[in-house]
Amino acid sequence: MSAETIEQRIQRAQALRLKRMIWGFANHGCTALAVAGLYMGGFLPLAPMMVFFASSILIGTLQVLILQFGINLRFRDPSMTMAQIVWPVLPSLYAMFFVALPQGRILFLLLAAGGLMFGTLALNRRQMLTIAWFFWLGYLGLVLLLTWKKPDHVYWPLEAVTLFAYGSVLSIIAYLGSFISHLRQELGARNRELKHANLELVELATRDPLTSLPNRRTVMEQFEREVARSDRQSAGPKALGISVLDIDHFKRINDTYGHQAGDEILRKVSRTIEAAIRKGDYIGRIGGEEFLIIFPETTPDMTVPAAERIRRAVEALRFDALPEGYQVTVSQGVALHHAGEPLESTFKRADEALYQAKNSGRNQVLAA
Ligand code: GH3
Ligand code: MG
Ligand code: MG
Repeated sequence: MSAETIEQRIQRAQALRLKRMIWGFANHGCTALAVAGLYMGGFLPLAPMMVFFASSILIGTLQVLILQFGINLRFRDPSMTMAQIVWPVLPSLYAMFFVALPQGRILFLLLAAGGLMFGTLALNRRQMLTIAWFFWLGYLGLVLLLTWKKPDHVYWPLEAVTLFAYGSVLSIIAYLGSFISHLRQELGARNRELKHANLELVELATRDPLTSLPNRRTVMEQFEREVARSDRQSAGPKALGISVLDIDHFKRINDTYGHQAGDEILRKVSRTIEAAIRKGDYIGRIGGEEFLIIFPETTPDMTVPAAERIRRAVEALRFDALPEGYQVTVSQGVALHHAGEPLESTFKRADEALYQAKNSGRNQVLAA
């Protein structure tokens, strides 16, 4: 899993915002169809319909431009959710003023309530209620304006019931919607936590906690992969080499200087081997003070010198927990994998060479 750059994350967020914006346009498109229907039915004159369409297109274009030029990234809420819900209602309020029948106006209320549903994607309860109030007061203002300018278009008993019903529906959407929005956020946070926990689990399952090296299972799996790769390649000068490494007289160090000292040595020796091997080589801890080093694509005359380099690097180490001049040494058994040979057999040959190295005085590398 490769880490996403900040640039890529912003691009992905912007693409998602564009998708939501298109959904918003689709919702407003329904309102536009209703407006056209009212015009064709003779309930709305041509001029306000044209103003509705012109202002809708203008607002829509403006939103797309803001997104395309990344201007929204400077806003406190780059998703512009509130603005996207509120803006399309302005042309609707304007058109409603010219609709002769109260039933015609109710269409707009329905569609605006639908738009509020977009708030479930991002808004909290306060923001949802703010929009709900804005919608409700907008309609109240319209009815008051109509009462003043065109009193014969308003039948107040009906408007009172409409305002009550509209208020109820908006409240329900605001409360339920912000509840859903909250759930969405919680789920998102839970998901991130789970991902993090998963990474930790993988770490725990594949790494040895003391030395942070790949554990036995992981290094053996790597060995298996390298054997398969080596067997696939046609016979040539390159081969797969391994070294089984064991710290000399480690029990004595533990018994004399304590387990803490032993742990420090294990960590420092691990870091030293890691630093001594080439990029592409691989090391894991396969037992208490035993390590497996994998040298892919090596040659017979390179493997022993590589192991020698490790031996000398460990020999040169000094430890805070041990007396001045105390040398920690390692013995290694090196083997080259023969094409088609079972992995266990290669490993066994290296292990036997290690046994020989121990018997012939330790602090040395022997090849199988
Ligand atoms: P040799 O030179 O023949 O390898 O002798 P040795 O003492 O190193 O070998 P032996 O196998 O007898 O002892 C290994 C010791 O490693 C025994 C065990 O207590 C110690 N050991 C294993 N794991 C750890 C660990 O995580 N921390 C510490 N401090 N000691 C460990
Ligand atoms: Mg040992
Ligand atoms: Mg041992």
